[in-house]
Amino acid sequence: MKWRGRIAQQVPMAGHVSWKAGGDASQAIWPADLDELCAWLKSAAGGQPLLFVGAGSNLLVRDGGFAGTVVFSRPGLMALRVETQAPAKGYRRLYAGAGVSGAELAAYAAVQGLTGLEFLAGIPGTVGGALVGNAGCFSSEAWDSVASVQVVQRGGGLAVRSAAEYEIGYREAKLVEPSEEWFVGVWFDLRERDGSLARQTIDEFLARRAASQPLEEANAGRVFRNPAGQVAAALIEQAGMAGQGSGNAQVSRRHANFIVNRGGATAAEIEGLIAEVRQAVKQQCGIELMVEATIVGSAK
Ligand SMILES: Cc1cc2nc3c(=O)[nH]c(=O)nc-3n(C[C@H](O)[C@H](O)[C@H](O)COP(=O)(O)OP(=O)(O)OC[C@H]3O[C@@H](n4cnc5c(N)ncnc54)[C@H](O)[C@@H]3O)c2cc1C
Repeated sequence: MKWRGRIAQQVPMAGHVSWKAGGDASQAIWPADLDELCAWLKSAAGGQPLLFVGAGSNLLVRDGGFAGTVVFSRPGLMALRVETQAPAKGYRRLYAGAGVSGAELAAYAAVQGLTGLEFLAGIPGTVGGALVGNAGCFSSEAWDSVASVQVVQRGGGLAVRSAAEYEIGYREAKLVEPSEEWFVGVWFDLRERDGSLARQTIDEFLARRAASQPLEEANAGRVFRNPAGQVAAALIEQAGMAGQGSGNAQVSRRHANFIVNRGGATAAEIEGLIAEVRQAVKQQCGIELMVEATIVGSAK
C-alpha cells in the first residue's frame, strides 16, 4: 500500500496545541484516511509510545518533548454522514470521524435538522478529544447522545463499542475493561429539529462563551475541573491567584480558571503556574484541584 499521508520527525508540538508552548514529538503522522491509519498501526513497532492528537486544545507537551509518535486525526478522520437507517421514530443516526471539529459537527447536524450537538460548536476541539474528556458546557456533555464508538487498537484492528462499555463521568470516559485503543469515529443518535432553531441555539451559545472567556489569548480552556459543588475559578480568585504569572504564563484576570500564554511561555512556566495555583487553593481553601488538561512528555 502506497503511503499517501504525511510523516515527519522532530515535530514542534507548540505549533499543534492551543497553548502554543512545549517541546517536540520525535515523530508525527497524518494518515490520509482510516485504512491508512490501520495499515500504519499494523506495521508500526510494537511498544513505542503513541499519542493521538485532535486539535491540541487540552494538551501540553513538556519542553523536553514526547519520545514517541503523535498520530493526528485531522485531516484523515473527518468523515461525516447521516446513516440511512434511523434508530427510532423522530431520530437519526449521525456518524462523525474522530478528527471532525465540534464546530463542524454542530453546524452539520443543524443543516441536517438534528439537535443535541449545538453546545459543541464553541468547544475548540475534535470529536476524539471530546469523547476522551466528555467535553461539555451549557448542561450538555459529549456522551449524552452517543450510541456507539468506533475504536482502533494498537495492532490496527477496528472495533465498535457501545456507550455502556464506558464509565462516563464529569470530564472523563473510561473503558470499564481497560484496553489500549483510540477513538476513530462515533455514532450519535439525534432528535430531529428545525435546523434554523438549532442554528439559533449555536449562535446564542457562541455569544455567551465569547463574553466570558479570554479567547484572544493562547490558552487550553479551563485548566482545573470544578470540584463537586464548587467552581474552580472562584476558588482561584479567593486564593488570590487571578492575574498571577510565571514568566510569560499568566492566570487570566477575565476567567481565573484559564492560564494564558502571553507570548513565548514555556511548558515549564505553564506547568509551574498550574502547581502554584493548586498549592495556593489548597492552602487558602483546603481543596485539591484536579488538572483537566493532559500533560505528557519529559521536562527539559
Ligand atoms: C478556549 C477554550 C475553551 C474550552 N472550553 C471547553 C468547554 O467548555 N468544555 C470542555 O469540556 N472543554 C473545553 N475546552 C477544552 C478542550 O477544547 C476540550 O477538552 C476538547 O474536547 C479537546 O479536544 P481536542 O481534539 O483538542 O483534544 P486534544 O487536546 O488534541 O487531546 C486531548 C486528550 O485527548 C486525547 N485524544 C485526542 N484525540 C483522541 C482520539 N481520537 N482517541 C483517543 N484519544 C484522543 C489526547 O491524547 C489527549 O490526551 C476548551 C479549550 C479552549 C482552548
